[in-house]
Amino acid sequence: MRRFITFGASALLGCAVAAAPPEIRISGIPYTPAGHAAANCGMYSARNGGGTSFARSGESLQFTPEKPLCIYNGIKVHQCFPARWRNGALYVSRLDLAKTLLPLSSARTGVVRHRVRSITIDPGHGGRDQGAATRRLREKIATLLLASRVCEILRRCNYQVNLTRGSDRYVPLGERCRLQRAARSDLFVSIHVNAAANRSLQGIETYALTPAGAASTSGGKPSQTSFSGNRDDANNLLLAYLIQRALLRRSGAVDRGIKRARFAVLRDINAPGVLVEVGFLSNPREEQRLLDPAYREKLARGIAEGIVAYQRVVERK
Ligand SMILES: [Zn+2]
Repeated sequence: MRRFITFGASALLGCAVAAAPPEIRISGIPYTPAGHAAANCGMYSARNGGGTSFARSGESLQFTPEKPLCIYNGIKVHQCFPARWRNGALYVSRLDLAKTLLPLSSARTGVVRHRVRSITIDPGHGGRDQGAATRRLREKIATLLLASRVCEILRRCNYQVNLTRGSDRYVPLGERCRLQRAARSDLFVSIHVNAAANRSLQGIETYALTPAGAASTSGGKPSQTSFSGNRDDANNLLLAYLIQRALLRRSGAVDRGIKRARFAVLRDINAPGVLVEVGFLSNPREEQRLLDPAYREKLARGIAEGIVAYQRVVERK
């Protein structure tokens, strides 16, 4: 049985910070009461103050106890660690409070204000590296078509945009990061198309770099390694959320959520960045959609709109 715990945002309570909470460790990981986490996010428990059911008004956050998944304003967000029940109360990890919940919530704690004028767009793969492929479409072609269109839309909005490749050529992963650093761009967005052995899998997922101390969404052990991309953990997650939200609104695709991975192209950049997987070439329906220029236009507009939404938030913060 899935139980959801919902927090609502309170305009009246604003970003009220609760008193120091009783922290506990679960399997060596520091956890804090969910009620305390909610208060720090400017959210409140209206029904029974610290109970298992919370009111919502405008902004909502639902946990799936014992699973590393929450739903923020209707969008799936994979957490670093599961929320846990202990002694009749729900706890969330301190790492998720700092790296997942606070940046996403309207409190935006940890999110750094900055200007967004220049953007590096990275079409995945290229040249001898074709990425995923079907008889009718290769990932390296789909990403180049999409990236070129995102570039056009953003330039029309007066952003300065550079592509890590503007043609079908091979660019090593490290070189893509170097190009972002050399351009000193304010944002980095890498565009990919998914594939899986299970042909029924479909939908869009957006990745931010895994924070130090966490395992990536796909599994493995937590790692304490920190990369230059981790300096922007909070902004990375906010960018992932806003791009994922805009992509889903435009495309109507299945939401596979915001995830974390230590992808090479996200490690060594020195600006907020994400990697989007805009659909599954291995799914016949999504392959058909990706072949359709009108659908690709929706995806390109979604990515551009997510970037514009991010700029609005971080420049006025
Ligand atoms: Zn790819």
